[in-house]
Amino acid sequence: MSAFMTAIEQLTTSLPQTSEEGDEEPPEPSPCEAIPIVVSSPQTTGRVVRPSKHHAGFLNPTIRTFSRKYFPGATSRLWNDWRWQTTHRIRTLSQLESMISLSEDERLAFTRSPTMLPLGITPYYMSLVSPDDPSQPIRRSVIPTIFETMRGEGEADDPLHEDAQSPVPGLVHRYPDRALLLLLDFCSTYCRYCTRSRMVGHGDIHLSRKRLDRAFEYISNTPSIRDVLLSGGDPLMLGEEKLSWVLSRLRQIPHVEIVRIGTKAPAVLPQRITPQLVRMLRRYHPLFMSLHFTHPDECTPEAYRACTMLADAGIPLGSQTVLLKGINDDVETMRRLMHQLLKMRVRPYYLYQCDPITGSAHFRTPIEKGLEIIRGLRGFTSGYAVPTYVVDAPGGGGKIPLMPDYVAGHEKDALLLHNYEGGLFRYPQSCATGPACPNQGGVY
Ligand code: SF4
Repeated sequence: MSAFMTAIEQLTTSLPQTSEEGDEEPPEPSPCEAIPIVVSSPQTTGRVVRPSKHHAGFLNPTIRTFSRKYFPGATSRLWNDWRWQTTHRIRTLSQLESMISLSEDERLAFTRSPTMLPLGITPYYMSLVSPDDPSQPIRRSVIPTIFETMRGEGEADDPLHEDAQSPVPGLVHRYPDRALLLLLDFCSTYCRYCTRSRMVGHGDIHLSRKRLDRAFEYISNTPSIRDVLLSGGDPLMLGEEKLSWVLSRLRQIPHVEIVRIGTKAPAVLPQRITPQLVRMLRRYHPLFMSLHFTHPDECTPEAYRACTMLADAGIPLGSQTVLLKGINDDVETMRRLMHQLLKMRVRPYYLYQCDPITGSAHFRTPIEKGLEIIRGLRGFTSGYAVPTYVVDAPGGGGKIPLMPDYVAGHEKDALLLHNYEGGLFRYPQSCATGPACPNQGGVY
C-alpha cells in the first residue's frame, strides 16, 4: 500500500463516525443567506442563485448534473459529506479519461515522466472542471500537464528555503514574531502550482505527536512568537478532535496571541465546513483563516455557504490568491474574484507572485503583470477589494510588497503624484504649521 493511501486511511479512520453524522445539518440561516449571489461556475456564468436556507443539497444545477452522471449512487447527503468527497477523489488517469477529454499535454503528464505532485481532485471540484476546454482556468489549476516536469531557469524545489529556516521538523521560523507550523502534507485537491510540491501529497508529514511536541516546545521556548500559522497540506483535512488538540496545545502557550489556519477547503471541499467544525473552532478565538481562492468560478453557492458559516462563527477571513498565467492574470478576472470574495465576507489579503518552483514556468507572469492588475484595481474599486501584491523572495527573504509607482517627481516644495486615472496632482511638502514644524527642511 502506498504511503499516500496510508495517509488517507489515517485521516479517515480518525474521523468521527456515524454518531456525528446526524449533526450534519445545514448552517443556521443567517441574514446574509437572503442575499442572492452570482454563480460563476463555468457553465452558469452570471446566473443568480439563492442558496437554500433549509437544505444543504445540491445548490448548483451543474454540480447536480455532474453528480448524477458520474456518481449515480451518491445521494445529496453523501455528496455533502466531506469524508465521502475525500474518499471519492479523482486520482488516476483512467478516472480522468472517463470524465474529460485530455489534451496531449495533459496526457503526457501521466505517461512520459511522473509529476512531483500527485493527482487529487474532489468530485465537487471536478464538477467545476470543463470536460472539453484544456485552457479553462479551473481545469488548468488541477489537471497536470507535461510542463510541470520541466525545470526552468531559476526554479527550485524549495525556492523559499523553508527547509533551511526550519528549526524543528515541520516548523518554519522566518519572521521574528510568527511561525508556520505544517500539520500534515495532505490536501483534498492538489493545485498544480503548489509552492510545497516538494512535500505535499508525499505522505511524509503526519500529525505525529512526537514531532508536534518538539514544535510546541520550540514555540514555548521562543517568547517572540505571538502568531502561529497552521498550514500543510490542508489543516482542515484533520478531524475535529485532532485539530482541537493542536489548537488547545497552542492556546496553552501564553505568548501565542493569535492562531491562523491556511486552507483551501472552502474552494475545493466546502462540505468540510460543518456545524461541528465551526463549533469547535470558535472555542479558540482569536482565530483567523487565510482562504485560498484562485478564480471567480470557485465562488459557488457551496463556497458561499462555507464562508458564511465561518464568518458567522466570528472568524475573520482573508484570501490568498496566486497570480497565474492564463488563469487570473487580467484585471477583469481579478476584479470579479475580489468582488465575489467580499460578497462571501472574505477580505482580499495577499496576491502572490507565483513562486519559481520546479515546473512552474507555464504559470508564472512577469512582475509587471501583477503591478498592472493592482493599478487596474486601486481607485477603480473599493480599497477592501485590493489585495497586497507580494513577491515571496527566493532564498527565504520573506514577502516583499510591490506597488505601482504613483510618484511622478518633485517640483520645488511639492511632490508630484499621479492619481488612479493618471491625472497629475501636487502635494505641498512644506508643513502647514510653519517654521516650528520638525519636518521643515523637506523631510518626507
Ligand atoms: S491547497 Fe495549498 S498546500 Fe494544498 S496543493 Fe493547493 S496550494 Fe498546495
